[in-house]
Amino acid sequence: MATDLAKIAKSKKIEYFLISFVDLFGVLRAKLVPARAIGEMQGEGAGFAGFAAWLDMTPAHPDMFGVPDPDSLIQLPWQPEIGWLAADLWMDGQEVEASPRVALKRQLARAEAAGYRVKTGVECEYFLVDSDGTALSDPRDIQSKPCYDQQALMRRYPVIKSICDAMLELGWGPYQNDHEDANGQFEMNWDYDDALKTADRHVFFKYMVKTLAEQHELRATFMPKPFADLTGNGCHAHVSVWNKTGSKNLFLDKKDKQELGLSATAYSFLGGIVHNAEALTALFNPTVNSYKRINGAVTRSGATWSPNTVTYSGNNRTHMIRVPDDGRFELRLMDGAANPYLMQAGFTAAGLDGIDNNRDPGRAQFNNMYEEPHKAKGAKQLPLNLLDAIRLLDKSKPLRAALGDELIDAYVKLKTNEWRDYAAHLSDWERKNTLDC
Ligand SMILES: [Mg+2]
Repeated sequence: MATDLAKIAKSKKIEYFLISFVDLFGVLRAKLVPARAIGEMQGEGAGFAGFAAWLDMTPAHPDMFGVPDPDSLIQLPWQPEIGWLAADLWMDGQEVEASPRVALKRQLARAEAAGYRVKTGVECEYFLVDSDGTALSDPRDIQSKPCYDQQALMRRYPVIKSICDAMLELGWGPYQNDHEDANGQFEMNWDYDDALKTADRHVFFKYMVKTLAEQHELRATFMPKPFADLTGNGCHAHVSVWNKTGSKNLFLDKKDKQELGLSATAYSFLGGIVHNAEALTALFNPTVNSYKRINGAVTRSGATWSPNTVTYSGNNRTHMIRVPDDGRFELRLMDGAANPYLMQAGFTAAGLDGIDNNRDPGRAQFNNMYEEPHKAKGAKQLPLNLLDAIRLLDKSKPLRAALGDELIDAYVKLKTNEWRDYAAHLSDWERKNTLDC
């Protein structure tokens, strides 16, 4: 065994471990295990009942085991007696096909077999709200253009500093924190890294932000569109593909004819994302609420900052994909509800499909999509709601081939049930628009 967690517990004075996993809906679940039992758990895994989580299982299924990945260990900076571990799910001696971290690892293994190493960074936006989530926590945060508002940022300095200090201590390389485009909204950035490491950190970041906000008597939310008139929570990802050793960026080509600094490999990868974008939306924008962000009306600040069509551009934030710099692109479609593993599994699967099939993303568009959308002729529209997106995912041959029928079927089934539950609720809108029919 490469890393002995029992030994690490002794040397780092860890008393408890959180053996955690993320289910298909992105919910973080865990068992809190005393250090005396970690040796056994490292081998066998912690036991869970799969039906109790958002996985397509029944109460009759046998025990599911979360086998911790020792490389994912994070010692909580604010509670150093606790070590957090990401786990992979196993049942009957096999990995659970329809589980998010396993799905991402499989896509990364496919990439590695083809000689690629996927590197990513994520930008997780969040709001600080009141305890019941219906209003901002800071009543003085009222500017119509609040982005980078220093006064509002510094009123939240204690909690922002506690989160950034934690990332510094963990060696994530945080480099900037800001007030984002909506009142009450913030973003904190740390260095990009290998895709799995970034996904594990993304999971932990959400837990950390919620926990440290609670310690400051605040509530953090990553909900895609918590307030109808304000910019929503995006979760943009910066993506590049390197050679196996990580010494050469295979997306970089200074001689690119479109002058975006992208290689033929990068364009094929992009082509795969453009080709599969509508189906990917079910993974990138996984909630009913998500579609109020990507198909939203202009916000109080003047822009939604989110895409509504499948287009790519240079350094232009009105398109679904932005190329801010040579050798990488920023995918701007995902929102704060996106499952950290499934979103990366999704774009990696689509990118590899693009490379395998030499898919052409078409020409870059340089118009302002918010002001002059007609200039991007033939641009595909994104799904208008979760049900449309789920149906497109269900029918997607490339994503089924890459992610497996078991995962797609489980996801489609559970999300369709969620849609039915939502659709069964009578809304005020229905009453106002139908009562006098
Ligand atoms: Mg942002």
